[in-house]
Amino acid sequence: MTDLDAILQQKFGFSAFRPGQRELIEAVLRGQDALGILPTGSGKTLCYQLPGRLQPGLVIVVEPLLALMADQVARLQARGERRVVALGSDLSPDEARFVKLHLADYRFLFISPEMLLRGDVQALLRQLTISLFVVDEAHCISQWGPDFRPAYLQLGHVIHALKPRSVLALTATAPKCVQQDIINGLGLRQPFAFIASVDRPNIFMGVMQVADAQAKQSELLAATQAVQGPKILYFDRRQQAEEVAAQLQEKGQHAAFYHAGMTAASRELVARQFMADQLDVICATSAFGMGIDKPDVRLVCYTYLPESLEAFTQGIGRAGRDGAQSAALLLLAPTDMARASQFASALPDAKMIKTIFAHPELYTKMNDPQIDLIEAYIQSGFSEAETLAKLTARLAEKQASLQAMVGFVNALGCKRAALVAHFDDPLPAHTDLCCGELTPAVIAQLAPAAAVQTQAPQAWQAVFKQIFTFAN
Ligand code: ADP
Repeated sequence: MTDLDAILQQKFGFSAFRPGQRELIEAVLRGQDALGILPTGSGKTLCYQLPGRLQPGLVIVVEPLLALMADQVARLQARGERRVVALGSDLSPDEARFVKLHLADYRFLFISPEMLLRGDVQALLRQLTISLFVVDEAHCISQWGPDFRPAYLQLGHVIHALKPRSVLALTATAPKCVQQDIINGLGLRQPFAFIASVDRPNIFMGVMQVADAQAKQSELLAATQAVQGPKILYFDRRQQAEEVAAQLQEKGQHAAFYHAGMTAASRELVARQFMADQLDVICATSAFGMGIDKPDVRLVCYTYLPESLEAFTQGIGRAGRDGAQSAALLLLAPTDMARASQFASALPDAKMIKTIFAHPELYTKMNDPQIDLIEAYIQSGFSEAETLAKLTARLAEKQASLQAMVGFVNALGCKRAALVAHFDDPLPAHTDLCCGELTPAVIAQLAPAAAVQTQAPQAWQAVFKQIFTFAN
């Protein structure tokens, strides 16, 4: 038994490392930068928790969401780690001041990229020894649109200034171009990379092309009613998510919608109720996902063509995290292809880039993702020519990603084989529960669901009522 095995047992109570953990931990411990692409639930957090306990100095963990930070802090505390703190925008000024004053006393600091960009925070951190700088959900560096966080583009500068002993970038999915964006954006030096297989053998991959929108609707309702247990249905329009949630409620299902147009409080409420088994269907846009880790989701259905196989894989990967038989369904009507290709060509053009570069100060508060994107490049010190080059490349990438998605939909033969081939993974064996139409015979083989709490509808309606009463 090596020292690391002994530490794993003594400090974490685990008998063996999972794939990738030992390799990433060893890289970090020898001071090498590392990139870990491991599915959700595979144990990424151990890759910094364990080195953090062995090395002197502070471990900084950059997290995009307050909920993720709070979760990590609670988990470390539950393991007996007291020197852990989150510096988030939810702290009161007094609390934030206290944390900043005592930064040297902590072993783990969870922080948002925006907070990390603040001059006062950086000045304090610069006085400390940073043993490890972790970027969780590192694919955010390469996102744009609703998920875009300009602060991620600046992390490379922050790392350079803080000089951590090593940098560890973690994410659940990143295609090769995103991997490269992460490496370049964070300035990783000859990183060790561990990239896990994308295949999830316990998720049946259903793909159904139907004649029109009406047929899609009835297939969707039928599948949702037939599959027992928690389900996530994805839509590319908020209104549609709301309408289908209402229809499912009429049919007696415990359904709710979730999208970025809702207040943070209502989104949080819906997410919590789903996690607590008070809801069994979430009708959502892509805003629902990051940080949601429910083990027993039995069906994830896309009702539109996702922008890439990476987005699709990440989305359907929310099914069956407990390892039990679950299903994914991609339900498409002929017009969905045209709609997706329209989205894929929506990026700022040369004229728009020129206009904003001429007077960036005029456009800072426009709240338009395309403008925000250009502003972020300006703030990160990119020239107009570089920005144009980057966005032109991004457009080509987006179109190539969509082509790959279309290729998957149209692929004859095994869909799983088509999917894993895209990621250069080894070909899995095709079985009856591999892919095809989501027939009643397949549904009958999905893992049985735990009962949804019977008092649920009343409970969540009452909470909503309470919110609206307060709002008035
Ligand atoms: P991720 O961040 O990749 O989603 P987590 O780090 O949250 O995954 O780990 C998921 C679960 O797996 C946690 O409950 C964690 O305690 C457990 N876990 C992590 N590593 C191991 C291991 N080597 N052996 C057994 N369980 C593990």
